[in-house]
Amino acid sequence: EAFTAIEKKDSQIQAYLTLDEAGARAVAARLDDKLLTNEPKGLLFGLPVGIKDNLVTEGLRTTCASQFLSNYDPIYDATAVTKLKQADTVTIGKLNMDEFAMGGSNENSSFQKTRNPWNLSRVPGGSSGGSAAAVAAGEAYFTLGSDTGGSIRQPASYCGVVGLKPTYGRVSRYGLVAFASSLDQIGPVTKNVEDAAYVLQAIAGYDPKDSTSANVEVSDYLSALTGDIQGLRIGVPKQYLEGLEASVKACVLEALRVLEGLGAVWEEVSLPHTEYAVAAYYLLASSEASSNLSRFDGVRYGVRADHAGSLLDLYHASRSQGFGPEVKRRIMLGTYALSSGYYDAYYLKAQKVRTLIKRDFDEVFEKYDVIVGPTAPTTAFELGSQVNDPLTMYMNDILTIPVSLAGVPALSVPCGFADGLPVGLQIIGKAFDESTILRTAHAYE
Ligand code: GLN
Repeated sequence: EAFTAIEKKDSQIQAYLTLDEAGARAVAARLDDKLLTNEPKGLLFGLPVGIKDNLVTEGLRTTCASQFLSNYDPIYDATAVTKLKQADTVTIGKLNMDEFAMGGSNENSSFQKTRNPWNLSRVPGGSSGGSAAAVAAGEAYFTLGSDTGGSIRQPASYCGVVGLKPTYGRVSRYGLVAFASSLDQIGPVTKNVEDAAYVLQAIAGYDPKDSTSANVEVSDYLSALTGDIQGLRIGVPKQYLEGLEASVKACVLEALRVLEGLGAVWEEVSLPHTEYAVAAYYLLASSEASSNLSRFDGVRYGVRADHAGSLLDLYHASRSQGFGPEVKRRIMLGTYALSSGYYDAYYLKAQKVRTLIKRDFDEVFEKYDVIVGPTAPTTAFELGSQVNDPLTMYMNDILTIPVSLAGVPALSVPCGFADGLPVGLQIIGKAFDESTILRTAHAYE
């Protein structure tokens, strides 16, 4: 079914970078055998899934949408992928993204531009744009994405699907090609909230292969879906209602009325350091990226430049031809910020801002169970309209980035349409309290 949808639609949507029909059929045949022999079925038995192309998959090309890795076939699976396989899913292919997950529209992919299934002249969002578009177009039952500053939630919002960024450390990052290691998280993109709970159940948990994965017990996310949010205390940050497109704001206020109707109470709260989040994020994320991406030298991974003279020439030539413009911009920014004379002025200062932002959240969560607001200030924008304007592009993340800096979990759930394009409601929870987010979103949906 997924392959039929892909055949029909993907020449337009362009969500997939690599398809593995033979591999998928082989797994499906094995699952059929399981049925015949009455073996126990995994939690996600037989579901066709797509994987963002920055999660390594054994024997299946993994490019991070970069020329640099256009020939890279990993020899192992990311832990999240292994866990999906253990749950009996069928991997059908790898999904487009912004190169190395840097971007918010998929236009930084060095292979193709994915389109928004609701309107083909619009972007699907990013960087997990392929993951969101594939679910919206029925080209996978669900997908995995990664979120560093909003890359699961923002495309989910633009494409009218559910996207969950778990608490930092909830899902193992082993096998996720690192962008900014202190922020990266893997999470599900699904059609509805119940599916998100199922997928999180399958992929969450401690992993000795990722030293930052948390040794915290995994809750029963499915039993959290009670439909009951009577008495739930919701904080709505006043900063999150400023500077929104009017029609987006209207959808969010309507959603708050619905939540009220379900017995929740909401009040305006303040996250006073919100305005510094984007600046701090781009500094920290670029710094970490410049360090993480130093492993791409044309020797250990990926495409090596021809005819280089010395070893330094080889590094230089391979990196010049392998990375696209946005990746280079961030490596330069990050290297500059980390250089010895500037460390205190930039990196250290940004770390301090990060602490203040985390404290903002801690304070609100002393009194409230969840924080609710929009996922993004606008709906999906026109392809090409922001490519040459990185600052405008960066500002699209203003509502998702603070959550990433604080390390807390958040989910985007569709909350209506503005001018024919989907709008997402962001529900933010306390660290490791994905259950309350899922319960709230499920009751609302
Ligand atoms: N759009 C943000 C960026 O470009 C977020 C990316 C992400 O979460 N991977 O960094």
